[in-house]
Amino acid sequence: MKPPKTLDTIIGYHAHIYFKDAAERTVAETLRAQIGERFRVQLGRWHDRLVGPHARPMYQVAFEVHQFAAFVPWLMINRAALTILVHPDTRHPRQDPLVNALWFGEVLPILNVERLPVSTVGQPDATLAPNTTPTLAA
Ligand code: ZN
Repeated sequence: MKPPKTLDTIIGYHAHIYFKDAAERTVAETLRAQIGERFRVQLGRWHDRLVGPHARPMYQVAFEVHQFAAFVPWLMINRAALTILVHPDTRHPRQDPLVNALWFGEVLPILNVERLPVSTVGQPDATLAPNTTPTLAA
């Protein structure tokens, strides 16, 4: 049997915050503002149309490994019934949202799997550029 992967395989995380209609989008706007006030993360663009493997409109929050222990529990108790996918970045873009996923709420399908690269090992890693200025404690 192969040994288990080690934690240093994970170079960062994404949370994908989904919304299915205008009402949920409003909730997602509030959550986004609350995240930005409390966590130094990279808030991604709004995707009101389907993009990539995502089966519902969403925005992405990229965050660093050391933030998981604070940010993910905060999301658990503040997600306001939104469906959220949290996945690691292990340089395996196909496996990360499909196999290494943590879902809050519904489990949505991952679309266009065949278009996701199996591995980006050896390629430059995306740089995490935080764009929030937290002023409140989580
Ligand atoms: Zn992602």
